[in-house]
Amino acid sequence: MKLSERPQGSCTLVGAGPGDPELLTVKALRAIESATVLLIDDLVSEPIAALAPANARVIQVGKRGGCPSTPQSFIEKLMITEVRKGERVVRLKGGDPFVFGRGGEEVESLREAGIAVQVVNGITAGLAAVTSLGLPLTHRDHAHGVMFLTGHARSGGDTDWRALSCLAHSQRLTLVIYMGVRSAGQIAQELLHGLPAQTAVAVVQNVSLPEQRHIATTLENMAQDMARHRMGSPAVIVVGEVMDSLASAQAHPHKQLQTA
Ligand code: SAH
Repeated sequence: MKLSERPQGSCTLVGAGPGDPELLTVKALRAIESATVLLIDDLVSEPIAALAPANARVIQVGKRGGCPSTPQSFIEKLMITEVRKGERVVRLKGGDPFVFGRGGEEVESLREAGIAVQVVNGITAGLAAVTSLGLPLTHRDHAHGVMFLTGHARSGGDTDWRALSCLAHSQRLTLVIYMGVRSAGQIAQELLHGLPAQTAVAVVQNVSLPEQRHIATTLENMAQDMARHRMGSPAVIVVGEVMDSLASAQAHPHKQLQTA
């Protein structure tokens, strides 16, 4: 086949949201439905993976922290190869592709290979976590901003939690911490430097999935409550005054609140 006769391949990075297929954007759904090759992260829920067309090739490329995973360079090479073959490649990533998803690195490597990439936003887990509890991330009276943080920084790039705690306190910021389960104890300890011990914390696991669960606690009790309730990954830790109203949300029976 001459080069000019080859079908034109394409590459789209698609945010799958936190897990509930109802939280997919219309654009994400359309991209999934028209894909011929899908590369799927392990944080993408099964009902969403099941939306792949029957004749599409589905490749699972799990990358959960600490577990054996497909190397990033392999994923990037695979995407480039498939696009060059003329496939409509969809890279399906949990939440939003550009929030701690290494989507930025994937886009860079495809662009270096001369391939145009489209990116479709997804609802990031931190946003969905708080909304699922019926709470806002910002509030004119309680929180003037939000910070999305990783609890699992690349070695050498450690987050200065003490500095952040002072900033969060003085500027009334809500802290939304991803990948923080394993380091929760250390993070809480550092945050106590600038934030009051009674600062409200919510930890939400499996956001938007049928198995979603959460605890409401305080900064000083966070680590022990997480251990006591066996809060595991994937979970988001939300620290800030806006979480104070979680107690009032307990009045809603459908919230299934579990207060530590
Ligand atoms: N791009 C993703 C984040 C990837 S980093 C997003 O925008 O949501 C992986 C981390 O995201 C997990 O360790 C966890 O902190 C969070 N996360 C992703 N999906 C989640 C879910 N359904 N419930 C709770 N946390 C989730």
